[in-house]
Order: sequence, then structure tokens, then C-alpha cells
Amino acid sequence: MTMAAIDSPADAPEAGSEDYYRREADDCLQRLASSRDGLSAAEAATRLARFGANEVAVTRPPSALARIGRQFNNVLLFVLLGSAAITALLGHWLDTSVIVAVVLINALVGYIQEGRAERALLAIRALLSPVARVLRDGQAQELPARVLVPGDLVLLGSGDRVPADLRLIDCHGLEADESVLTGESVPVAKSVAALPDAVGVADRGNLAHAGTMITRGTATGLVITTGRNTELGRISSELQEIEPIRTPLLRMLNRFGQRMSLLIVAFASAVALFGGLFRGYPTSDMLIAAVGIAVAAIPEGLPPVVTITLALGVQLMARQGAIVRRLAAVETLGGVSVICADKTGTLTRNEMTVRAIEVAGGRIEVSGTGYRPEGTLQAAAGGAADPRGGPLHALLRAGLNCNDAQLLRVDDEWTVTGDPTEGALLVLAAKAGLDLAAEPDHQTRLDVIPFEPERRFMATLNAATATTATAGSGRVVYAKGAPETLLQMCRQQLGEAGVEPLDHDDWTARASQLARSGQRVLALAGCELPPGSNELNEQMLGELQLFGLVGVTDPPREEARRSLEQCRSAGIRVKMITGDHLDTARAVGRELGLGAGDRALSGADLDALDDAAFAAAVAEVDVFARTSPEHKLRLVRALQAGGSIVAMTGDGLNDAPALKRADIGIAMGRKGTAAAREAAEMVLTDDNFATIVEAVETGRTIDDNVKKSVAFLLPTSLAEALMIAAAILLGYQLPITPIQVLWVNMVTAVTLGLALAFERAEPGVMQRSPRRAGEALLSGVLLWRTCYVSATILAAILLLHLLARGNGSDIAYARTTAVNALVWFEAMYLLATRQNTRSAFSGQGLLGNPIAAASIAGVLGLQLLFTYAPPFQLLFGSTPLNAHSWLLIGASGVVFLLVVEGEKWLHQRFLRRRHGRPPA
Ligand code: ATP
Repeated sequence: MTMAAIDSPADAPEAGSEDYYRREADDCLQRLASSRDGLSAAEAATRLARFGANEVAVTRPPSALARIGRQFNNVLLFVLLGSAAITALLGHWLDTSVIVAVVLINALVGYIQEGRAERALLAIRALLSPVARVLRDGQAQELPARVLVPGDLVLLGSGDRVPADLRLIDCHGLEADESVLTGESVPVAKSVAALPDAVGVADRGNLAHAGTMITRGTATGLVITTGRNTELGRISSELQEIEPIRTPLLRMLNRFGQRMSLLIVAFASAVALFGGLFRGYPTSDMLIAAVGIAVAAIPEGLPPVVTITLALGVQLMARQGAIVRRLAAVETLGGVSVICADKTGTLTRNEMTVRAIEVAGGRIEVSGTGYRPEGTLQAAAGGAADPRGGPLHALLRAGLNCNDAQLLRVDDEWTVTGDPTEGALLVLAAKAGLDLAAEPDHQTRLDVIPFEPERRFMATLNAATATTATAGSGRVVYAKGAPETLLQMCRQQLGEAGVEPLDHDDWTARASQLARSGQRVLALAGCELPPGSNELNEQMLGELQLFGLVGVTDPPREEARRSLEQCRSAGIRVKMITGDHLDTARAVGRELGLGAGDRALSGADLDALDDAAFAAAVAEVDVFARTSPEHKLRLVRALQAGGSIVAMTGDGLNDAPALKRADIGIAMGRKGTAAAREAAEMVLTDDNFATIVEAVETGRTIDDNVKKSVAFLLPTSLAEALMIAAAILLGYQLPITPIQVLWVNMVTAVTLGLALAFERAEPGVMQRSPRRAGEALLSGVLLWRTCYVSATILAAILLLHLLARGNGSDIAYARTTAVNALVWFEAMYLLATRQNTRSAFSGQGLLGNPIAAASIAGVLGLQLLFTYAPPFQLLFGSTPLNAHSWLLIGASGVVFLLVVEGEKWLHQRFLRRRHGRPPA
């Protein structure tokens, strides 16, 4: 194959690629030196080197400057900068520089952490890069869309995002939504016919453009241009900026921060005014004190802590196989109270094996497991079934021809590409000894109605060959699908003696019997027609002969059973929503031990219910069968109206509205369409139900950690502020100077403040009820703890200060004692906050989080510097302490921890008594 004939995007005139729609499909193939088998792998590699990757928009992370700027977009920091200005005006340069240092350190921490979060999200998004089904060397394979080159053949189906500009060379009922390009939201029908005249992009009916969405049908398209040379590439070659990280929680924290700043400024001013008016302190001292109160009270470390907590959650979930597209989803996951899951592939393995065949003559059992084509066909009545004639032969041939899957053997492992249900039919034919290569009909397919879940059947029109009864150019129709659907299309059945009238009731009973044992049931039918049309039409499907039924097993996933158990103890309802038969769904539900497994409703049952009855049914029933995507949407709405936070899985194009509507839309990474992936908040790389449950567990842990960070930062900030305020109000010498408070604030924010982001799951995190929807961040408990802990710290520090003074120490010594005690108390409180349910006095409690242990060690190191290093003594007025003081500080910290732990224990006991289970 030569490259000479190809117009490279660089040297071809614009018209070179634009006029493909005016040429016949074969001409286009020739011009791009390709064939109906696609390119060879080697040729594709050469072209990739020449044409470059098929990428349109490069997403650019925001510049460092913009990111630094964003750190200052925070009211709390403005208050701090205002404070710095006040101290500067008063000429207190030391205070100014410490406040500026606090601001800068916080901004730096925020900048670094946000950068980490963004990089994590970017890396995770790369995992979601689009894939395309490509025909190379005659083999269909899934490849990253970025490796597509002109001349490649791409296979399209409904729900696919078109990966490059394509000239369609084979097309069956294809429709595409081209609104990204043309603004027209009604899908347009596509065909392969060449157009005689030059027309605009919107009218090029034989091209499929990159970025548009296939809404119906199947097609094969020849790549004509890639990357920036596509129509989409030309209009959107500008770089896209990544949206900044802003989740509801972060927004809420921002609002919370604004309100708090107001409160803090008002409080600080009131205290300073009181000191000036009633205690006779000099104005400049009071201004500095007000600044100290404000700076101390502001929990400026909170936003970066929350960002990093969420980002760590995203990374953890990605390792577990759940790729979260938006940081906000991590928050929501923790509160999920209902999971609506598909059956096939999510709760079951999606490894289909035909176990039974029903033909007019009776049942045939099939042995063997998996996709290995080894096994026998045994008539239930005894004796081997003969696959070379009669209805069994017709059924097997229908299964082979009405089929788009491929059975592959790689190193003695048998796998299937395409739909596993169809793969099972290929394996069945192979077990029966039907030689795939010797069955040529599937190569002479003229037209196809592809399987779509809403239609529940697939049909092909084939040109008859010598192996079929009608020799010459006769036509053969094959169809397979859900028994209810196919029986409607049949008037006759194929018996041992030939064609006979259809016994509808008998087949319905047999289908139901297979379904009741948990098998998915397919009916297979067909008919022969005289020479005629090359297109399948309704009329051709009205006269089918039923060949028989097959029962296909799809074993439940082992881990799904365990995960369902976990959901039960975690107070999460699981609903199975499937397109499969009611009896099959009920049997699988029972096998999995799914809630009210025996009660099941079909889509038709649901349609008959008014809204009130629907809401009641949805609350009670856990198994829904023969549903359509509209049912999923209605289910989500009803569940949400009942106050649930709903996670919903989906894979098809039409699942997109339900996925968007759900609180967490979950798309299948393997069998899901691009449309579903784009509508979802989360994509499962392994399609596995267990992964959803793991993600919920991680979500709950993240939720806990954010709450723990708040529970740590609020009381410690408040205690620092109260320290100054109390002294002024009581007319007492400041136990800690404002500048010393600023120091404490600075060292604890970057060390202790971040440690809780790395906390692991609490024991029993999946044994408690989900958090209530819309639960406030500042709960009553948190408010109580903030007051109680800050008051305890305040009292203890004042006491230590008084003791030191009482022993005759000077004020510098007493203040150094107080500063060290404050930091040590905060470290102790960190240990208490780490775990809600477990005591801090254990190996786990003390060392379970290495980052917490390291940050405590770090902060103690800084305190040694503060106490003993001469420059620090000069700056902060600190002085060395003796062993007795250190011992006293250490011991009182431990007593403080005991007091806090005591309250925690009492609280847990109270909750257990009241709820009978651990609280959320
Ligand atoms: P879910 O994934 O939501 O649990 P499902 O994938 O099991 O549902 P569908 O794939 O929508 O359900 O299948 C519904 C019915 O359509 C099946 O019970 C079967 O009878 C029929 N069917 C499934 N796959 C095919 C196929 N490839 N060709 C023809 N009919 C099919």
C-alpha cells in the first residue's frame, strides 16, 4: 500500500477532504489507499507518525499566576490582609510580617494542594479518553481514538461519539445528532450515497463528523480527516481551560467563611472597643489585639484541607475502579441512600452460556461452561440432538448469521468481542459442530436492524447462497430477540416435519419456564423470501417462522452478593433494573438475596400506575424488569421525591437523562456508550456493582474527614481568639501576645490542619445509616464541641499561665509556657478528632495515621525553635523553659485529652442507646 495517493492534511487543498462526500464510497477507499478490511497495523503506525494524533482540543491547566490569584479570592484572607494593613499603619512591622507570612503560607498550601487536586483529576480524566471500534487487518478492535489515521475504518453504533470525520461506506438506519456542529438538535438520517453537488456541512448526509453523537443504527465509516483538520477541530482549536475546582461543599464553606468573617470582625472590634473604653488600654494595643483575635479566629486552613481531602478521595476511588469526573461527586457519594443497578454485567458477570434449547420436538440440554467451545447437545428425552437438520439446524444458523460478535482464541483462552449474548450463540454453534467458516451467509448480509434495548430484537437480511433452499439471489431473513417480541412476528413454527402453525401458548409457557430458572431467553426465527429488495422492511418481519428458544445463563458475581450484604447493613436500598424478562429478573434477584426479591414489577406494570401508586411501588419493590430508559427516569424522580439520594447505573444512549437526573449517574466503562459516560458523574472501569459500594464507603470516609477537619479547626481557632479576648475583657495581662497567637496559627495550620485529610475509614463506616439529605455542616454536636473544647483549652491555658506567674516567673516565661501548652493541646485534640468511634488511647489511635504522627512531631520541632532559637526569642519574646514546665505542659495535655475523650465516649454511648446502632 502506498501513501502517494493520500492527501495529507498539510498538503491537500481544503477541497481535497471536503469533496469526499461527492465521491462514491469505493472511490474514497481507493483515494485513501484503504480497503473494506481497514488498514494494516503497520500502515496505520506509519500514518500516525505522519499525520499526528487524532486530538482536537488540548486542555490547558490554568496558569500558575491564575491559580495563586485564586487563593486570594477568599474573604477570610481579605480580613487577614486588612489586619496586616492596620499593623503596618501603626508601624508594628513584626506583626505585619507575621500576618503576611500567615497569608502567604496559607496561599502556598492552597496553591500546592489545589495543584495536586487538579493534576489528580487530569490524570483521572485521561483514563476516560475516548475509544473507537476500528477495523484493522479485517479484525474489529477497540483502540484509543487518538491513534486513528486517515484510511482507518471505524464501526459506529448508537450512543457512540464519532471519533473523526468519516465518509460512511456502509450504513444501517444511521441517525446522528449533529447539534455540536450545526446547532440543529433533531437527529439527521445518514446514508452512503454520493452527493452530486457541493453542499454545506449540515447537508453532507454521507459524512459523520467528529464530535457528533450517533443516536440510532449502525455504520462503518472511513476516516477522512483527524484531529484539528476535522470540522470540529477547525472551529474549536482554541485551547480549553479546565474549570476551577468548586464543589457545593467548597461553595458552602466559602459562604460560611463570609458570614464568619463578619462575625469575627464585629467581635474583635467590640472587644478592642471595650478594652479601650473600660480598661484604659492604649488604642494601638487594642488595634493589634483586634487583629490578633481576627487572625486567630479565622479558620483559613479549611478550604485547602477540604480540597485535598476530596482530591485524595478521587485518587483512591480511581484505584478502586471508580473514575469520578467531578470532585463534587465524592461528596455526594457519601450520602447515597439508594443504588439502582442494572442486572447484566453489574450484578451478574455478563459471561453468557447457552444451557438449554427449546425446539418444536422438545428440550435440548447443552453442556460446557464459559466461551470454550467444548460441550455436547443432548436431547432431554434421550440421545444426542442432530444439529445437521430440522429446526435445531435452522436455529443454530440463525444464531450465527444474526450476530455481530466474534469468538477469539488467544493463548488457549477463549474470549468474545462484541455482545456476550451473541458470543454465546457462536459458542453454541461451535459446540454443535457447525463450522463457522463453512457457513457463508453471514458474509452476504445485505441489511440489518441492530439490537437496541428498546426494540429487544435484531434482524438481518441475507442473500441466499447454495446452502439455503432458495438458490440464486433469494433472500433470507433471520431474527432473534425477546420471546414476547419475536412471537408477535411469527405466524408459523418449524417442526420436525416442516412448517406448521405457531403454538403461541406453548412457546410462552416454555419461555417462562426457562426464565424462572434465572436464564435469559432468546427466541430465534427466520424465513426465506424470493429475490427482491436489498433492504429489510416491516413486511419481511411479519411472516417469520419460529425456530425455537435458547436459555442463556449469566452467573451472578460472587462479590455482588457480599456487596449487597454491605448495603443492607449500611442502610442503602438496592434496586435492580433490567431489560430482561420478569421471571429471569425475579430468579436472579432471589439468588442474589436482593431485598424483596420475590416482588417484581415489569415496565408494563409500572406504566399502569398513577404517580401516587408508582411512588408507593417504588418504595416497596426492589426488582424491575422489561424496563425502558424512561422508566429509569421516572424511578429516579420518584425516589428523589421521597427524599432519597440516588445512584443510578446505565450504559445506553437513552439512559443519559436518568444518569443526569440521578444524584450520582454511574456509567459502565466497558459496555457503556460514550453518551452514557459523558452524562455520568462516575465511570466504573470494571462495570462491577461491588466497585460502587466501595466508592460509597470511600465517599463516607471523605465525608467524615471533612467533618473531622471542621471539628478540629473551629475549636482550635476559637480557643486562640478567646485567649486574647478573655484577657482584655477580664482586664488581665495577655496570657499570649497577638504576635504569638499568629505564630501558633501559622505553625498549626500547615501541619496539624492537613493531617485529617489522610484519615482512613472509621470501623463500622458501612454499618450506619446514610447521612440525611441536606444535612448541615455545622451540626448541633459540632457547635457544642466547638464551645466545650475551646472553653476547656482557654481555662487550662489561663490556669497554666497563672501558675507560672504565681511561681514567680516573669511574663515572658509565663507566655512561652502558654504558647507551648496551646500547641501541645491542639496536637492532643488532633488525636481525639482523628476517630469518632475509637479511643485515642490505643496504638491505632496514636499512630494509625502516620501523617498525623509526623505533623505532631513537626510542630513540636518548630516549638523547640520558638523556645530556644535566639532569633525566634527576639521576634516573639519567648524564653527557654525548664524541665518542670515541660513536664507540667505534657501532663496537662494528656489530662486535656482524657477530658475530651471522656466526652466523646459519653456521646457515643448516648447515641448507641438512642439509635441502637452507630450514628452517621
Ligand atoms: P440490564 O443490563 O439493564 O440489566 P439487559 O442488558 O439484561 O438489561 P437488554 O440487553 O436490554 O437487557 O436485553 C433485553 C432482552 O433483549 C433480553 O432479555 C433478550 O431477550 C433480548 N436481547 C438481549 N441481547 C440481544 C441481542 N444481542 N439480540 C437480540 N436480542 C437480545
